Amino acid sequence: MSETRDVLRVAVLGAGGLGMAATRMLSTKTEMRHVAVADSRGYAYAADGLDADAVGSAQSESGTVGSLSGAGRLSGDAIGDLLAHSEDIDGVFLALPNLPNDFIPTVIERFARHGYQGVMVDALKRTSAAELVVKLDPVLAHVGITYVVGAGATPGLLTAAATVAAQSFAEVESVDINFGVGIANWETYRATIREDIAHMPGYDVEAARRMSDADVAALLDETNGVLELHGMEHADDIILELAGVVDRKRVTVGGIVDTRNATKPVSTTVTVTGVTFEGRRSAHTFTLGDETSMAANVCGPAFGYMKAAHWLHSRGVHGVLSSADVMPRFVR
Ligand code: NAD
Repeated sequence: MSETRDVLRVAVLGAGGLGMAATRMLSTKTEMRHVAVADSRGYAYAADGLDADAVGSAQSESGTVGSLSGAGRLSGDAIGDLLAHSEDIDGVFLALPNLPNDFIPTVIERFARHGYQGVMVDALKRTSAAELVVKLDPVLAHVGITYVVGAGATPGLLTAAATVAAQSFAEVESVDINFGVGIANWETYRATIREDIAHMPGYDVEAARRMSDADVAALLDETNGVLELHGMEHADDIILELAGVVDRKRVTVGGIVDTRNATKPVSTTVTVTGVTFEGRRSAHTFTLGDETSMAANVCGPAFGYMKAAHWLHSRGVHGVLSSADVMPRFVR
């Protein structure tokens, strides 16, 4: 239970809704130093730490963090360029769109091929994408990367809560996740909203990827900005199955996303139903505070899992772990 005392040097890949929230969150942490950020048009790297306000202004004024004065570079392959600094990066948060469905797995493979030896966490959502990451376990274990898959909110915080709640039961019968998300405008979280649309009847990942911004806006006009999602292909199922908690068929995920109102349309809950060793059926429900944003509930756990992964990395544990395998550690 010893503390890791060193300050983790952190890179954030993706400078959209989650990436910029991660940048702001890191500026409040003393145990982590934000040294790098990348988007599709550039990156910024500073060994002694980036200024979150300056990164935010550069991104909002020019559309890329690459325009940051001094530390910024414009690039058509920001991830490739950042790999040149990988020896000076302890942890990577992948806040990238996962469109197509194997995009994040290919980025992970790039880090492994480069010989990166640090920790990586993602906020992946789809079961099929998480399965691709799990398959990389032998490669990452060989190279010396400690990876936590599904380290956001769902999967992530809620999957971990379900794993803790399951301990009261001899058998878990079901895990039901219902999330509510309120964001003021969809453009702040383009990938999140596209990936949510991919779960709607008549859509898939490819169809959502091909939609222009105007197509997305037109669809949201039809629904008054609200997306209702049922029976989602969410990796909470495979993560809970691999951790031995419950069969993936017994895990359901759905939610309501309001893209025109920062207030949550419904509370986010996870309910674990099971039977105790005495034969009593019961359910635990964990409810997130309505005032907590998606960004707080994704980026907080992601950095908590990064700290846990770094702790395990320093003890020689490498390969792919999930948000149900380890507890996130609290980052000060
Ligand atoms: P976004 O669309 O707002 O931003 C994506 C960023 O990635 C942009 O800065 C873009 O320039 C950058 N990018 C795209 N291609 C790149 C490339 N090749 N190299 C470098 N940068 C590149 O995305 P978002 O809405 O913040 O979502 C990010 C991810 O987080 C999505 O995959 C989303 O599904 C996921 N997410 C997970 C949870 C969870 O609870 N697990 C919740 C919300 C979002």
